Amino acid sequence: MSETPLATAVVRWYDKNARDLPWREPGVGAWAILVSEVMLQQTPVVRVLPAWRAWLTRWPEPAVLAADTPAEAIRMWGRLGYPRRALRLHECAVALVERHGGAVPTELEQLLALPGVGSYTARAVATFAYGRRHPVVDTNVRRVVARAVAGEPDAGLATRPADLVATEALLPAEPAVAARASAAFMELGAVVCTARSPRCVDCPLVDRCAWRASGQAAPAGPTRRPQRYAGTDRQVRGRLLAVLRESTVPVAREQLDLVWADDVQRARALAGLVEDGLVQALAADRYALAGEPGNAVPQL
Ligand code: SF4
Repeated sequence: MSETPLATAVVRWYDKNARDLPWREPGVGAWAILVSEVMLQQTPVVRVLPAWRAWLTRWPEPAVLAADTPAEAIRMWGRLGYPRRALRLHECAVALVERHGGAVPTELEQLLALPGVGSYTARAVATFAYGRRHPVVDTNVRRVVARAVAGEPDAGLATRPADLVATEALLPAEPAVAARASAAFMELGAVVCTARSPRCVDCPLVDRCAWRASGQAAPAGPTRRPQRYAGTDRQVRGRLLAVLRESTVPVAREQLDLVWADDVQRARALAGLVEDGLVQALAADRYALAGEPGNAVPQL
């Protein structure tokens, strides 16, 4: 616990500077926090806000979503991107009903056993919903720890077990304080210790930061290149899904053919959607969202 002073400084800063985000408000339940964590993993806050509110207005509890179809979850996901997350959330809601009576469990092992709930999400839910003491390590936290503690300009591309150990060492012993520290480190990385332009003069760790103390040049930013979207299979998949989301009856392949000119790429994208379980291939070369009610027998 020798690094707890860092947590103290970051929590003090967080108390005054945290963004006002609805999933952080007192009384927000574990299901709402779980949904926010899944949505935020690959989508910016500003796009998540309306989607999160709409999702929870429609499905305020896991049981309500579990009683609906996967197709409706995919439809509701809209253009948030990476729509397999909608399917996983639906599967998770079903599992919560079957295994936990419709409640989100409190224990890390139970959370990790849920479909679509990985190491980060399980720790985030246990920490932010139930005030448990777990290292919650996303890209932002890894970057803060790499700079402030290890004196490195940036973190690696993926979370390693060593990152969990290094972050846990920063957490205060008291679980509720540790939970707040986890939120604070995450926020600091999101808004101050950013990848390309860390604002060290505004940082509560400026006098304690190993990277700052080393006098190294400003970090070059993430080595991960920004992902291209235009012209990719992801764009084609998005267009195909947009057509299927708009229809509650099966769609003929000829109609899907209109969304993209390249036959090979379009076929590959459609096959990928079927393989991922987002789309069903039906008889007579027709397609529908997964689990759409009233559809004909799937194509053999
Ligand atoms: S002092 Fe600068 S580099 Fe160090 S943690 Fe703060 S913002 Fe990041």
